[in-house]
Amino acid sequence: MALTGVKGFNDILPDESSRWHYIEQTARKVFELNGFGEIRVPIMEKTELFCRSIGDATDIVEKEMYTFTDKGENSVTLRPEGTAGVMRAFIEHKLYAQDPIAKLYYMGPMFRYERPQKGRYRQFHQIGAEITGVHDPLADAQVLNMLTIFFREIGLTEPTLQINSLGCPECRPSYRATLQAFLNERSSQLCDDCNRRLVTNPLRALDCKIPGCSAATVGAPSVLEHLCNSCNDHFSSVRRYLDLSATPYSINSRMVRGLDYYTRTTFEMVTGLLGSQSAVAAGGRYDGLISQLGGPAIPGIGFAMGLERIALLLGAKEFTSQPDLFIATIGAGERDVAFRLMDGLLKVGVRVEMDYEGKSLKSQMRRADKLKSLYSVVIGGNEAVSGRASFKRMADGLQTDVALTVTDIHALVRKSEQ
Ligand code: ATP
Ligand code: MG
Repeated sequence: MALTGVKGFNDILPDESSRWHYIEQTARKVFELNGFGEIRVPIMEKTELFCRSIGDATDIVEKEMYTFTDKGENSVTLRPEGTAGVMRAFIEHKLYAQDPIAKLYYMGPMFRYERPQKGRYRQFHQIGAEITGVHDPLADAQVLNMLTIFFREIGLTEPTLQINSLGCPECRPSYRATLQAFLNERSSQLCDDCNRRLVTNPLRALDCKIPGCSAATVGAPSVLEHLCNSCNDHFSSVRRYLDLSATPYSINSRMVRGLDYYTRTTFEMVTGLLGSQSAVAAGGRYDGLISQLGGPAIPGIGFAMGLERIALLLGAKEFTSQPDLFIATIGAGERDVAFRLMDGLLKVGVRVEMDYEGKSLKSQMRRADKLKSLYSVVIGGNEAVSGRASFKRMADGLQTDVALTVTDIHALVRKSEQ
């Protein structure tokens, strides 16, 4: 029996990768415009990094990590998310010494042991961005605007922005206690996980996808009503900046996020089109994370978007680049002419395909159709001798007589692109 891949780990085939390139290129363009530079960190880190940052009592650390002991008896983990590794590198290389304000982005695979379904896989890909060193809500607004612009640029209107504030170490404990009291009264309706976390992480109940928990938490106390004055001011300023830039958003006071390091602003881009995989991008402020990992007291804010979910939302739109020209040949002698032409055209950036197998003219033309080539040309004995041929525009059959030279064919193709 032939071997298959590992469950939840997908191959991205060429037909689909063009859609991925489009997403990645758009992200690079929008992020670099905003002054972000790419950072590439390893896909594996010491397990301790994730336990210390994401938090022991989270779904990710409790159940989803790919953790193993390597041959040197070290506990290592395939990264379940990007921020922890990026901040580890930020601290390790003292990037803050040059400038505490760093704008970094990353893209690549992440790993979580979850139940695979549409939009949820065990290896999935994220594109994320982080700003360090800015307490001012302006950074929150820039990140949110950048996310909004990215989705507009790739042509998706569907995911909409929801924001919340989770407060800070000053005000969260009192909210936590109030919520705990509320949940304790309803513990019989909560799932085992939420019951277990009533003490360690009661906020998680608000994000639990189990219907009983959603029902039991209707009317739960709102975090926004428990913010201290400075968190309240921060959140108001974020909203004012979003209004100033006419960025659409709504407030969702139940959004708590599945990672412990968030403080103050949190947000998600959500869609109704992917079932319970509703979050397409998510993030927030993490003012305590860098110091918690042994770095200086520098704040941060960032997000990660799920590439697979964005690709699903983009749907079957055509992203592959079709050839500009298909060269069909009649005899063996003409194949040399065609090959030289193809080589010359490829060198100036014209996408050319030709027959590889000496097939019949009819089957060559079928292939030109299948590849959706813009033009086709047939080179037979007459064309090879005269050095001219009739180029057919495949869409409407229009024929143009052109010299079989790189310059003239290049000009023909470029003209029709304008
Ligand atoms: P969910 O609530 O759907 O489990 P999450 O809150 O765990 O998402 P984050 O940790 O915030 O997700 O990751 C940011 C983004 O990464 C998500 O919004 C989603 O688009 C994507 N993502 C997370 N987990 C997966 C997965 N297992 N498969 C595919 N994409 C994922
Ligand atoms: Mg999750």
